[in-house]
Amino acid sequence: MRKHIVAGNWKMNNDLIQTETLISELKQQTKTSDAEVMIAPTFTNLWHAFESTRLDDIEVVAQNMHFAENGAYTGEVSAAMLKSIGIQTVILGHSERRAYFNETDEALSKKVSQAIAHDMRVIFCFGEELSDRKSGRQEDVVKTQLVNALCHLKADDYKHIVLAYEPVWAIGTGETATPDQAQEMHAFIRNLFRERYNDAVADNLSILYGGSVKPDNAKEIFSKPDVDGGLIGGASLKAEDFYAIVNAF
Ligand code: PEP
Repeated sequence: MRKHIVAGNWKMNNDLIQTETLISELKQQTKTSDAEVMIAPTFTNLWHAFESTRLDDIEVVAQNMHFAENGAYTGEVSAAMLKSIGIQTVILGHSERRAYFNETDEALSKKVSQAIAHDMRVIFCFGEELSDRKSGRQEDVVKTQLVNALCHLKADDYKHIVLAYEPVWAIGTGETATPDQAQEMHAFIRNLFRERYNDAVADNLSILYGGSVKPDNAKEIFSKPDVDGGLIGGASLKAEDFYAIVNAF
């Protein structure tokens, strides 16, 4: 059975002190939903965040990693390094990585395989640009991103995969896909995996929605049958807002 997940992507925000403060505020919140809670601080604060949440119902995840095992990749971080500090889950393919750091489907496909080889869970992000939606190409674009990066996997590998549909036009813009737009795309995605793999892969795949999810729109978005949670940017930086979203299930 697929899980409800709410993950906070902190991006390049919060130094060590701010990380400590936000984590202590998060710990004061009460969780009333069944959603798994994740936070993704920047690399330098992962270890500290992991240690500070050891006894709490919060998983600390990474925002990125490299596809190589090790070697001459200055500035990069490997799956083994993440695992060595207790990190079990990594966000891959965020649209900001694709746009500003030229992450290609090919590189992402290698990163996904590397994470799985290290028995890690992947939150795989994808989504169309505004121009794609305006020209009605959103399903083709999303299908291409998913097929290129994920369809080399075996059915059994999908126990490591969480999908995050994030229309680029809705990220950090205050513009949200309507709940019906999100449901329509999530149903399309689930069906794609049903056709490519089987019912078990499709039905067990958690598909998160990301793009300006806030306390006041989360409940309606999460009420849709194929929306299994959210990847939250801006609103994950305030403990009360984040837990209002977590508790929207
Ligand atoms: C994101 O960056 O993944 C995101 C969804 O950001 P925001 O919630 O701020 O739109």
